[in-house]
Amino acid sequence: MHAMPFVRLLCSTAFLALDCNSFQKFLSHIRPRHYFTSRNMSSFDGACACGAVTYTIQDDDLKEAAICHCKVCQAWSGGVFVYVASKHVDIKNKENLTTWNSSDWAERAFCQTCGSSLYCKITAPGPMQGEHHFGAGTLKDWKDIKLKKEIFIDRKPNGYEFVEHGGTKMTMEEIFALWGGSDDQK
Ligand SMILES: [Zn+2]
Ligand SMILES: [Zn+2]
Repeated sequence: MHAMPFVRLLCSTAFLALDCNSFQKFLSHIRPRHYFTSRNMSSFDGACACGAVTYTIQDDDLKEAAICHCKVCQAWSGGVFVYVASKHVDIKNKENLTTWNSSDWAERAFCQTCGSSLYCKITAPGPMQGEHHFGAGTLKDWKDIKLKKEIFIDRKPNGYEFVEHGGTKMTMEEIFALWGGSDDQK
């Protein structure tokens, strides 16, 4: 008898007992996380060293890094260019970037202020066109990204070896066949 008024009283008492933060916390358990925050869990933020250029990569598959041993990457990065690859890129403050064509099939971009090597983009027509290779060190957080591939392996200096990752190693000719490049530079 009189069950509904009793339930209503219980509910309102329970609601009053929760302060606003507790109520939000309670809701966050029953709603997807993105209901309360605009951060997409599969996006990766990055920036150059001085922060004048920032970018976001929207990619669920961004779990692997690669190294390019081509001569241009060696000079451009000052050593070893470790990168993450994606076509789903949103770059802010593009006016702070300088781009240059390092070959007739790739474009590179660096920050005008700090000179950080931000990305190399494949421009040659083909399946790889538009893919950006961002310097992994410009990602805000890449501690869980694993080295899985080395390319232009036949251009690697003899002085060091990345032997532990057990991933793919591709020669210059194999990369040209895949990317559409044709000269010794990238
Ligand atoms: Zn910068
Ligand atoms: Zn390279």
